Amino acid sequence: MTTKPFLSKAALSHAIHPRAMHLILLPTEQCNFRCTYCYEDFDIGRMRPELVRGVKTLVDRRIDDLLGISLSWFGGEPLAAKDIVFDVAEHVQRRCQERGVTNLGGHLTTNGYLLDLATVERLCAAEQRTAQISLDGLGAVHDRSRPLASGRGSFRRVWDNLLAIRASRHDFRVSLRIHVGVAEEAETAELCREINRQFGGDPRFSAYLRLIANWGGANRDSIKSLSGPAGREAVARLARLLTDIDHNGVLVRADGRVGRCTVALDDPRNTVGHLDESGRLRVDSDKLRPWLAGLAELDSDLLACPYGGVRGGPKTSVAPAAGVQTIVLPPRWRARGDLPAGTTVGAT
Ligand code: SF4
Repeated sequence: MTTKPFLSKAALSHAIHPRAMHLILLPTEQCNFRCTYCYEDFDIGRMRPELVRGVKTLVDRRIDDLLGISLSWFGGEPLAAKDIVFDVAEHVQRRCQERGVTNLGGHLTTNGYLLDLATVERLCAAEQRTAQISLDGLGAVHDRSRPLASGRGSFRRVWDNLLAIRASRHDFRVSLRIHVGVAEEAETAELCREINRQFGGDPRFSAYLRLIANWGGANRDSIKSLSGPAGREAVARLARLLTDIDHNGVLVRADGRVGRCTVALDDPRNTVGHLDESGRLRVDSDKLRPWLAGLAELDSDLLACPYGGVRGGPKTSVAPAAGVQTIVLPPRWRARGDLPAGTTVGAT
């Protein structure tokens, strides 16, 4: 596995673009779950109203200079304070509309338990249209490692929320993060097959595999992580089961051909499937597999530019730049009564 930085020069340059703002907001550090591998201490509660106003004022002060704003919601569980999420997102959206800023986006890292359809609808209306949800297994497997704080299971509600999004017409995208190493591989494989069955062919859903790691926390002494060749091989085996599901994005050409790369349009290896008029996505898993080598090998070059691996030559990145100016606003600042030194908030 390479240790080179993931970001390209272009992405790094974009990350400090003065006319883009990316706020990562923790509206609460509380969570309704108690995952067995969680590193959070849940000491801090909701963001104070004064700080919520501060976030909105920050946007108001910067808006005239901005070309785009993106919000990322993190926690704890951000939807445990969904009133704050709505309040800030709707405020930012109003300001963007007033000032003609068309590039607004938002993403939630959520456990999915409170992501019912009414919530999805309101998030979409405020241009918060993507979420990442972690799954450890089906039913009892997920319930064991991702229980509610009360100790009850969480799987059924999360899964029902996902099925409801699938059945809806909301333009809301969900990235399913499948944890590897929490459960027996056979159980993770069953989850992958079911995700493939239920969400395969729906371009709003994507999935990726992540080895569980020990990031500390109350259970740090009992967390067993799968690493090295054994971990990489498990990820590679499981990735083969997700044949119909999007692995972080597909390219749909004007004639319905489905590929992975916007540059290699003349290369037949870049046609891995087809999208038909009913919205059904068919993918040839043998043709898709080489494009997933970065996932299997956890190679940052191949993840940034899978075509480099497909053509077997030098790994020249053609990935689009990503990332914008980042200011993290955790609610713990309420205890200090101010923003941390070193941020540019006060100077803008
Ligand atoms: S969902 Fe689980 S891992 Fe995430 S903050 Fe809550 S307890 Fe921790």
